Amino acid sequence: MALVQCKGCGIKRAVGFMPTTTCGLLLMPVFGVAVVSGLAGFDYFREVHIAGRLIIGLLAAILGCLISAVAVHYIPWTLEWCLAMTRRCPECKGRKWSYPFTEGFGQ
Ligand SMILES: [Zn+2]
Repeated sequence: MALVQCKGCGIKRAVGFMPTTTCGLLLMPVFGVAVVSGLAGFDYFREVHIAGRLIIGLLAAILGCLISAVAVHYIPWTLEWCLAMTRRCPECKGRKWSYPFTEGFGQ
């Protein structure tokens, strides 16, 4: 249920299944995947020196963070954007919608 805005008349509608407000709970799986992938990267290369293992773990954590952020945010928002494109605007009957967004934290 993220918000989309009609590019023709500016009306906002909630579509899909994601929250309409900015939600910090969606960061929890991102941080969880980052910690697990960092520990897995640190533990997998046992024959490497400890400094090398720390660097590998840090890189694995960053990579896991990026991949899970895309999986948690951009893939569902792209699906919601596709859902919005199937519907016409109730005001101007156009089908041009903005990319989904949330409101919160002062907006
Ligand atoms: Zn419209």
